Parts: sequence; C-alpha cells; structure tokens
Amino acid sequence: MKIRIRDIPPEGRTLEWSLDLDSLQRRLVPESEGGPARKLVMPEYVFSAPPPATVQLELEGSTVMIDGTVSAQFRTNCVRCLEPTNASIQSPVKMVLKSHSERSRPDEEVEDVQLGFYDGKEVDCAPIVEESLVLTLPLNVVCSESCRGLCPTCGSNLNEGACRCAPAKDGDERFSVLRGLKIQ
Ligand SMILES: [Zn+2]
Ligand SMILES: [Zn+2]
Repeated sequence: MKIRIRDIPPEGRTLEWSLDLDSLQRRLVPESEGGPARKLVMPEYVFSAPPPATVQLELEGSTVMIDGTVSAQFRTNCVRCLEPTNASIQSPVKMVLKSHSERSRPDEEVEDVQLGFYDGKEVDCAPIVEESLVLTLPLNVVCSESCRGLCPTCGSNLNEGACRCAPAKDGDERFSVLRGLKIQ
C-alpha cells in the first residue's frame, strides 16, 4: 500500500485496505532471521481473512504522521489446554516517518511514537501495519477463562473430565500458593 507524498493533500488522506496474508505470515516467521528459532517461541496464528486496516496519513513538512488501526481474527492454540481456539485483536498503528535527508539532524524527541524513515517521496504503509499487528498478537490466548488446562502429570485435557491422577486436595498447603495464581 504505497502512496506518494505529493498525493497526500493538506487535510490528510485515509487509506483502507486488507493486509496480504502471505506477507503477514512471512513476517511471523522470517526465513532470513532464524525463522525456526522464532517459531519455537511464537504460537501459530492462522488468520481467517486478510486483516482490514485503516490509516490516516498527515504531512507536516516532509514528516509523515501515520495513525490508524488494524483488526484481525485468527485461530491459535489455547496456552492452557493446547486446543485450537479463535481469537480477535484490534491493534493501533502509530508511526512518524521522517525523510532520509533529515536523518543526520540531531532532532527533537518524539515521545510515545515509533519513529522511522522514508525516501522522501513515497511511503509504504503495508509493512508498518503488518509489524504493528505482529507486535501486538497475544502470546497467551485461552479458549475460555475457565479452561482447566492439561494435567501436569498425565497430560489429559481436564476440560474433558478429571483424570486418574491423585486430585490435589483443596486443603493441601503445598498448593496454597498456586491457588492464587492466575495465568494471564
Ligand atoms: Zn483451553
Ligand atoms: Zn492426570
């Protein structure tokens, strides 16, 4: 989703499109950057449809301000019971792009906003939005807040019923600390 700077009118310009799924998946597991290693720590995400994005572009001098949102519905595995589950997310997209020619200038600080650079002529919004989405994908999706997860001993899915392992007694002091824990 490229746009030339001279095509951004003074009142700004809104772009709406849907992200390219292949490009998004490549970003989740970049082949060049030790993809397999990252794959071990990232859950798998299967998007049900190309995520729709809306961004507003405004120009101040040669600086481009990007502000928008991207939303996605996807399937991933519950972190407790490991069963596939559906989830959705809406991620903010905020970025300030300065022209490359200003890179060397010891600049004013921009707070709370990601700063990037562009060639001074054209901005490609797709990678910016893709990255915003990838960075906010939740790592800890649960199928339900009441998901009981897997038995740590036998691995049975406790949502499907109790297993044959010895049940932890409510009064057992050894587990009293764990009882208050919540998996976020
Ligand atoms: Zn679950
Ligand atoms: Zn068990």
